[in-house]
Amino acid sequence: MTSALMANYGHPELQFARGQGVYLYTADGERYVDFTMGIAVNCLGHCHPHLIAALKRQADTLWHTSNLFSNEPTETLAKRLVELTFADRVFFANSGTEAVECGFKMMRRYHYHHGRKQRVRIISLTQSFHGRTLAPVAACLNPLHTEGFLVGDAGFDQVPFGDLDALRAAISDRTAGIILEPVQGEGGIRTVSVEYLQAVRQICDEHGILLMFDEVQSGIGRTGYLFAHEALGVAPDLLASAKGLGGGFPIGACLSREHVAEVMTAGTHGSTFGGNPLATSVANAVLDVLTEPGFLTQVNQRAGQLRAGIDALSEQYPGILAGHTGLGLMVGLRCAGSNADLLKAMATHKLLAVKAGGNSVRLLPPLNISAAEVDESLALLASACADLASL
Ligand SMILES: *Cc1c(COP(=O)(O)O)cnc(C)c1O
Repeated sequence: MTSALMANYGHPELQFARGQGVYLYTADGERYVDFTMGIAVNCLGHCHPHLIAALKRQADTLWHTSNLFSNEPTETLAKRLVELTFADRVFFANSGTEAVECGFKMMRRYHYHHGRKQRVRIISLTQSFHGRTLAPVAACLNPLHTEGFLVGDAGFDQVPFGDLDALRAAISDRTAGIILEPVQGEGGIRTVSVEYLQAVRQICDEHGILLMFDEVQSGIGRTGYLFAHEALGVAPDLLASAKGLGGGFPIGACLSREHVAEVMTAGTHGSTFGGNPLATSVANAVLDVLTEPGFLTQVNQRAGQLRAGIDALSEQYPGILAGHTGLGLMVGLRCAGSNADLLKAMATHKLLAVKAGGNSVRLLPPLNISAAEVDESLALLASACADLASL
């Protein structure tokens, strides 16, 4: 099959024609269990009826006005996000990288507004991932993403994950803020410790600098909490959300406390599509389901079931699996062998997952997966392990 697409994603062999719940189907009707969920995007599985209804209703009503005018679904979504979180204000974008970019601009503008024009530098952690536009790429310093793209350091400093001394040493009178993922995604499903996060919060407060969490992947119920930082008990000043927020419809959001949001006066920032009513209607429907009583409890129950199954398989196949990391249904499968080999063996048994750093495999099932579907998936994982063990 020749493709007119650029080669930046390689050339994926698998093509899917439709999806339903946890399953993806090829045009030939071959069924796969999808633990990629579009990289933690389809948080309620494929083609959830409540999301379809919201999208169809909005499609018949109003598609787009730009931010020249306000619209009801977008105002409602912002109010709901404020009510459900630490935040006082919301800016809507279309993707994770744009939500992060907005936060970077706000960190600088905050200090500029208060007459501290030299405070422009932003600190990130090693193995982080914040997106693919230029500022997030400069923040993450992943050589695969920076080569041939970067001009200077673009105002970013990086310190080792979990190292408080290095963080303290990196702070200067030019530092504007710190960005981190409470649970790193691409970097290999690594959770920061509560002690570390509390200390980072304290350091930020001492220096009058801002703390931003990137919860593009860890947010929207993925960890069994609406946002992962709730599990860790530390609140940020700014937060980037995207991925699961639209359940498959592109949307991003930068959430902020008032003292930072107040500097974003008329004309400072914008997005033509941001706050598009099709996107915000679907996101409202996602929140309808996520905030149903008991929904997040069930996420934690399925996570416990999946993780217990992985523990058992790790004991049975110590040469292949080495336990799990992460929180809730943001599961890192630690590989004792190669993660590429495990992914391939899983795909042979029609179980799809995502590669991650630290020689791990990311399992990102839909949040509404059933107990029977978790068992089915564990059986497929067991078959993949058995294949590898017999080599
Ligand atoms: C995916 C991701 C991003 C980038 O989101 P896009 O929608 O691809 O721009 C940023 N941060 C984290 C933690 C992510 O997982």
